[in-house]
Amino acid sequence: MFGTGLFDGAADLLPWLVYGAPLLLIWLVRGRRRRAQHRRSLAALDESRSAGLSEPPSLHPLIDPSLCLGCGTCVTACPEGDVLGMVHGKARLVNPTHCIGHGACQEACPQDAISLVLGTENRPVAIPVTGPDFQTNVPGLFVAGEIAGMGLIRNAVEQGRQAVASIRTLPGIGAGSDLDLAIVGAGPAGLAASLAAQEAGLRYVTLEQDTLGGTVSHYPRGKIVMTRPVELPLVGPVRFAETTKEELLAFWRRVQGETRIRIRDRERVEKIDRADGGFAIDTTRGHYRARAVLLAIGRRGTPRKLGVPGEERPKVVYSLVDPEQYAGRRVLVVGGGDSAIEAALAISEQPRAAVALSYRGEAFSRAKPKNRERLQAAETVRALSVLLGSQVAEIRERDVVLDTDKGRLELPNDDVIVCAGGEVPTPFLQAAGIEIQQARQRRMR
Ligand SMILES: Cc1cc2nc3c(=O)[nH]c(=O)nc-3n(C[C@H](O)[C@H](O)[C@H](O)COP(=O)(O)OP(=O)(O)OC[C@H]3O[C@@H](n4cnc5c(N)ncnc54)[C@H](O)[C@@H]3O)c2cc1C
Repeated sequence: MFGTGLFDGAADLLPWLVYGAPLLLIWLVRGRRRRAQHRRSLAALDESRSAGLSEPPSLHPLIDPSLCLGCGTCVTACPEGDVLGMVHGKARLVNPTHCIGHGACQEACPQDAISLVLGTENRPVAIPVTGPDFQTNVPGLFVAGEIAGMGLIRNAVEQGRQAVASIRTLPGIGAGSDLDLAIVGAGPAGLAASLAAQEAGLRYVTLEQDTLGGTVSHYPRGKIVMTRPVELPLVGPVRFAETTKEELLAFWRRVQGETRIRIRDRERVEKIDRADGGFAIDTTRGHYRARAVLLAIGRRGTPRKLGVPGEERPKVVYSLVDPEQYAGRRVLVVGGGDSAIEAALAISEQPRAAVALSYRGEAFSRAKPKNRERLQAAETVRALSVLLGSQVAEIRERDVVLDTDKGRLELPNDDVIVCAGGEVPTPFLQAAGIEIQQARQRRMR
């Protein structure tokens, strides 16, 4: 009797052992993973906060914690990888400045707990007031793309195309001796607008302070670009979904060559005034008159210049795109923020590169603590010299001249990278008479 009872008990336990033990194991492993993810996310959140990088620049997810189930599908769905995290079992924006506003998190959320919004309570985003045709309060002055509030390549392309569709119906288009349209900016919005203007037979000019590509040309080398199929005027449907920065730029350059759209590179628009039912446009190279103006200027603004002799040399650039191109070169990086420090560090890792980092302040007080530590470590082991309290006085063909506390310093030099921040586009819009509104958590989709 006794022996049979024991046998019966073991038999009862068997299903628990067969099914229960693996479930228990899975539960334990999941719990461990969740705790590790929570720790990682908290660390990322703390780092963003302590570096003052706690506000998303543009479109971003707003997560309703009362609806979030903590399933983490939004975290995995984000194409940028490190933007969202899980804190105390709920999704959180842990790396706000890396958010591009793809909206993949919103689409993936099974609970509809995510909305895409523009601006935050602490940092509203200034956007022009426009009608559905993208016309601002200044008749004949239009905006499209990121400056109008909607980020992403596809939206910019779509808006550039639609804005030109509205512009071509304006009275006075096609008449008189002025251009019909001046397009400012040749990012995705300006490119699509230029193609649409060419297709519509408008007399237009596209003015770009840099070169074709806009923000895309400043992405890091090899960045994966997530986009969606779009219709490009004169080209037809373009079915890119996932590509690289280089492929996308090469495609746009091919389109520019084949369609012969007219883009005037390295010509910055400085002033737009109303004149005789149209506009007078002053640029760094000339003067134009046009019946309508489309601003497709994005939000990156214009890089702040040093204003020193020799700054116009081609060896001077305003952002680091590809550190590898500086192998074996003597580089001066100018600036005291994170982008300057990160550029100097990345170049110092290249073989035979020699980097000097010049900053007029006495300490890198604006930079992330982690970057300051990395800089100190790199100074001792690599070819990186830090010149605090120094200011660039002149940029010459083969060297640079710096003013320092100890007098003038001449450094042999091949390249200069200026990371001195940028001038935001809002004053430019206001000077043109455009009414601006402040978006605070405004729902966009
Ligand atoms: C790091 C990063 C990664 C991203 N990844 C993606 C992605 O994977 N997928 C995606 O869809 N989106 C992505 N985006 C967003 C996307 O790049 C932008 O939404 C898009 O480029 C906006 O296009 P735009 O034409 O409105 O402006 P921009 O691309 O910013 O172009 C504006 C142009 O106007 C020019 N300009 C400005 N002022 C003047 C002036 N006064 N005179 C003459 N020219 C002027 C500028 O030089 C620039 O070329 C990313 C953004 C960043 C920062």
